[in-house]
Amino acid sequence: GNALLSSYGTTIFEVMSRLSEEHGAINLGQGFPDDRGPADVLQTAADALLTGWNQYPSMMGTPDLRQALAAHAGRFYGLDVDWKTETMVTSGATEALTACLLGLINPGDEVVLFQPMYDSYLPIVRLAGGVPRFVSLKAPDWSFSRADLEAAFSPRTKLVLINDPLNPAAKVFDRAELELIAEFVQRHDALAVCDEVYEHIVFDGRRHIPLMSLPGMRDRCLKIGSAGKTFSLTGWKVGYVTAAPHLLQPVAKAHQFLTFTTPPNLQAAVAYGLGKEEAYFTGLAAGLQAKRDRLSAGLASVGFDVLPSAGTYFVAADISRFGFDGDDQAFCRWLVAEAKVAAIPVSAFFVENAPTNVVRFCFSKKDEVLDTAIERLRHRF
Ligand code: PMP
Ligand code: GLN
Repeated sequence: GNALLSSYGTTIFEVMSRLSEEHGAINLGQGFPDDRGPADVLQTAADALLTGWNQYPSMMGTPDLRQALAAHAGRFYGLDVDWKTETMVTSGATEALTACLLGLINPGDEVVLFQPMYDSYLPIVRLAGGVPRFVSLKAPDWSFSRADLEAAFSPRTKLVLINDPLNPAAKVFDRAELELIAEFVQRHDALAVCDEVYEHIVFDGRRHIPLMSLPGMRDRCLKIGSAGKTFSLTGWKVGYVTAAPHLLQPVAKAHQFLTFTTPPNLQAAVAYGLGKEEAYFTGLAAGLQAKRDRLSAGLASVGFDVLPSAGTYFVAADISRFGFDGDDQAFCRWLVAEAKVAAIPVSAFFVENAPTNVVRFCFSKKDEVLDTAIERLRHRF
């Protein structure tokens, strides 16, 4: 096969989910909710499937979803988005990321990546011929400095890829951090691809700030979202990109040869969902915040050093006190087989200088599932 892709194993999410099934474990590894998702959104998709048009929609997405995306950007972030030239629907955020990287990078261009990073970023940067430059965030607060950015940016920087809120660290970038990134992007005349799939999953009364909304960044950012996260329907694979026309056009060139389009009934349902009342969005974050608190307290009660989680479906925990020689992969293999609880080793999100003493748990699960997982852990520790 392709030499570059052959150098990668199977993604850690698939590996841990298969191990979890094999061992009859509770799967707190791969990030997905274990409920059905909002009934009205599901009903809208079902109605559209049975009574709507089921042939290829426009490659840019259905007009109703694109209009809903522009309205959503105005409603939540005060962004003025032209749906006809500045929005595009993709088959998941994964495709949106791939289309952005393939569409924007020329061989030799440098791409600044923050570690820990989602596992699809680096292979696609490399497939596009990009040269990765890493900024390593360090537990427990996952912070970075001006000097870290000085070291990573160069005259060859084409773009920075940022994931905010950040999986798996559960960090939400604050305004000062975003301003620092914005300063470097502008100074280097670069772009920012912003993976904001967890934009509506931010806790403790904080609000997500799109990098795109900062001064000077409107026409340098490509903002990516996912219905999978916003509507707890991860299997749907409906994603979207919002960007200035001159940035979206090259990305659309890649998209037309990747998937070209996305199922129209799902697009209809997501268009409906994005227009839901405020209570839906606040309820999503509040419900997950309660689950974060439930799992974090449980993990602490069995001896984990739980790190703060400001957003996403995830909480990270330090495992140093359990031994395992600081080997998070060995710990997770042991945990799934012996405690019958699956987690994700955070080292899988690094290519260099990986911490090996942190694992990630997903809390978007029913309360009784979280409680049973804690009981299983209590039994082993
Ligand atoms: N980016 C991040 C940070 C993610 O956690 C995920 C996974 N769910 C994705 C992108 C992929 O999203 P999608 O399922 O919409 O492709
Ligand atoms: N985003 C999900 C996670 O981080 C997994 C997605 C996938 O399985 N590729 O767990």
